[in-house]
Amino acid sequence: MLVCKFGGTSVGSPEAIERLVSIIARPDHRTTTRVVVVSAFSAVTDQLVALARTAETGATRQMGTRDPAVDEGLSGLLSRHRDAVRALKNLPAADSEALLAALDALHADLSRRLDAVAALGELSDRSMDAILSFGERFSAHIVAAAFRAQGLPAHYLDSRALIRTDSRFGNARVDREATSAAIQAFFAEGRELQVATGFIARDPAGRTTTLGRGGSDLSAALFGAALSASEIEIWTDVDGILSADPRLVKGAFSLAEVSYSEAMELSHFGAKVLYPPTVLPALEKGVPIRVLNSFNPDAPGTLVHGSFNNIDGSGPGAKPSSAPKSSKPPVKGISSIREVSLVRLQGPGMVGVTGVSSRLFGALARCGISVILITQASSEHSICFAIRPADASGARDAIREEFVLELERGLIEEPLIENELSVIAVVGEGMKHSPGIAGKVFHALGRNGINVVAIAQGSSELNISAVIPCADESKALNAIHEAFFLAGRRTVNLFLVGTGLIGSTLLEQLARQQEVLGEEHRIAVRLVGVANSRRMLFDVAGLDPAGVREVLYAGDAAAATAGPAAAKAGSAAATAGPAARAGGVGPELSAYTPDAFIQRIRDLNLPNSAFCDCTANDDVASRYLDILEAAVPVITPNKRANSGSLAYFKALRDTARASTIPFLYETTVCAGLPVISTLHDLVLAGDRVISIEAVLSGTLSFIFNNFDGSVPFSALVRQAKEKGYTEPDPRDDLNAKDAARKALILARECGMDLEFDDVVIEPILPAAALAAPTVDDFFAELEKADADFEAKRKAAAAGGKVLRYIARIDDTGARLSMAAVDAASPFRSLVDSDNLVVIYSERYNTLPLVVRGPGAGAAVTAGGVFADIVRIARTLV
Ligand code: ADP
Ligand code: ASP
Ligand code: MG
Repeated sequence: MLVCKFGGTSVGSPEAIERLVSIIARPDHRTTTRVVVVSAFSAVTDQLVALARTAETGATRQMGTRDPAVDEGLSGLLSRHRDAVRALKNLPAADSEALLAALDALHADLSRRLDAVAALGELSDRSMDAILSFGERFSAHIVAAAFRAQGLPAHYLDSRALIRTDSRFGNARVDREATSAAIQAFFAEGRELQVATGFIARDPAGRTTTLGRGGSDLSAALFGAALSASEIEIWTDVDGILSADPRLVKGAFSLAEVSYSEAMELSHFGAKVLYPPTVLPALEKGVPIRVLNSFNPDAPGTLVHGSFNNIDGSGPGAKPSSAPKSSKPPVKGISSIREVSLVRLQGPGMVGVTGVSSRLFGALARCGISVILITQASSEHSICFAIRPADASGARDAIREEFVLELERGLIEEPLIENELSVIAVVGEGMKHSPGIAGKVFHALGRNGINVVAIAQGSSELNISAVIPCADESKALNAIHEAFFLAGRRTVNLFLVGTGLIGSTLLEQLARQQEVLGEEHRIAVRLVGVANSRRMLFDVAGLDPAGVREVLYAGDAAAATAGPAAAKAGSAAATAGPAARAGGVGPELSAYTPDAFIQRIRDLNLPNSAFCDCTANDDVASRYLDILEAAVPVITPNKRANSGSLAYFKALRDTARASTIPFLYETTVCAGLPVISTLHDLVLAGDRVISIEAVLSGTLSFIFNNFDGSVPFSALVRQAKEKGYTEPDPRDDLNAKDAARKALILARECGMDLEFDDVVIEPILPAAALAAPTVDDFFAELEKADADFEAKRKAAAAGGKVLRYIARIDDTGARLSMAAVDAASPFRSLVDSDNLVVIYSERYNTLPLVVRGPGAGAAVTAGGVFADIVRIARTLV
């Protein structure tokens, strides 16, 4: 025998009612279903609440008439329900007339009650319950008729006749015994299908009560338990109980089975799909609950069954066949309560004094305040608990009253109340046998910069809860969900500034590599934001890396031709463009400023974000600290920050270390070559760098590697310029400043506190060449120095040596100079424009560690940046 409950959206429209009837008409349900419990049509309970409030405070109350908004609302409700009746095909005319008459009578009754509220200008909880009861009464009448229209005998059942509660209007407690007896007596007479009103009941004096919002689930459980049903089916609008709230976590998936205690815990901590008190009657009678989707009736849904807080399935109500399997994942689901207040009670008078907790919670219970979560430090100096914000002032008053003496004597301090907090709960019975779960939860939170205000873990290890800022609720849920459920799949939400040579190459590589990363490495890089120096483009659903430049340029073109209004046209281009539109929120295009870009990253507050700076500008580099402080990792090939002021570099490094938010800049030195990471690993492993010698400039490498006397030095520089190896003015390379910046970064990496001016640059060029006003003049001056260069080369060659321009970093500092190296030197064999870094350390002391290869170029630099992005992904789980 089945009891089936259909929620608001499952009865909210003629089509929904048709679906409902066809579900119950299926052979597996037709003969077994004895009770169909229905909610009010979707949104009707909310509308009734609003109508009652408007009646109470309405504009025209003083004049003894009702606010016109009430009339409007009432007639809207009536026509919605009448329309549903008219849509019932094949309902005999007499039945239809009787039904419409019943609806009119209900409408008239409801209208009178609203009049009474308006006349008194007072809305008691009792009146509210009476008004809310109409929603379920309308809907149960209509659904019963819908069955009859399809030839299934069915009767309207007003549950107030059977479900008995106390008189706590608004959230009444059920008298289980009386209710069971009444239900059993009613059904003892062998009834046809009953369509029962959910949510509503009556108190001992016969007055209408309600079971709390969402309470129709409980009504179904009461019927199911009293009748020892084989199953209670809860039909809703999602495929069962999901691993998380699908409105907050996109990847949430349906759980095949959960235990009663898991269901209770998930719903207690916010999983709205099941009203928390529903579980208890089912559990006590061992009746399984199945949560199903009326919009997708063939989906298997979720079975709630098994044991209560007993992993072996041997607890009360357990059915041997339904015991949860031990191979199940440790965490089943994650839920959250969006708004809670945290109350902290502390003071010296609490230490070692017995009975403080019982007095505290006794006082709260007497005021009907339910406590969501409690934590107490082992020092007993403070107790901290979470409650609904609406209960906060009541809790404060209750505490003041209970502890009046202690407060006077200063033994207990005034209670502290913090607001705008959420609770997130990670739930699963399997956590008991899996170490490291809490570590994973808090790593996901910490890694995303989410401040944990309080923590609670039940000793049953069924639940780990954390109180966090409201603003981080969705970020926290998504980060934890990904950490536990996506089978090692990690998603980085990437924000990229700079679409020049390196940035655009990175975009190409991302586009090409996405599939391999996803399929083979289970890493997804979702490009959420991108900017060039004029425009920025965002889409939370992910932008197509191959198409974004076009969209940015289209925005530019539109802005250029039509002025400021054209940002909109650009945005139309974005929408129509190739960028993916998965999550409903389309791409947005707007004017770029670093501040606006960073503010958008903050506002989006996405989990697992990363920021990548592919510009060469200070204005972006100077904001890395803000970005790291927002718990977003920074990846950069831009040398500005690391070779700028020592104080700023240290602030970045220290912030990254203290927060464990990665700051990755491998490509600032020798592009994609693993120089920084190698140094970093050496130091981490306890080695000490003694010295570094390096050729850090591809241009200088090319010039000196080819300086064999066959052509003069100036001709080589010309060649390098023609090949595009130099900046437009070759002095920008030959002044060795860029190489010096890299040397500075390496020196700082070895722990040396140097400023840029501390790096000694022995000039390559004569002063006159450096000072020449134009590039042509520069070459003319350089030619004058050819003889001098040749003399130096010859002198070196006489000793079997060649010239190289080498940076040397050791205890004495950092210095770049021209040096003659012999055949044994690793620098001797350098060719083309390769970079070379030679590291001598305590462990690499006779033979050095050498890193060599191309140290420039868009492909290798972008590749190195890409590798850093993947590194970020790897830190996520
Ligand atoms: P009904 O009207 O059928 O009682 P509810 O609106 O009360 O339905 O509950 C279903 C809704 O609960 C879903 O549409 C979903 O948005 C929300 N929800 C929140 N958390 C979860 C979860 N963990 N699993 C499934 N649904 C959830
Ligand atoms: N109609 C009631 C509500 O909206 C009860 C329910 O739907 O479960 O809260
Ligand atoms: Mg519900």
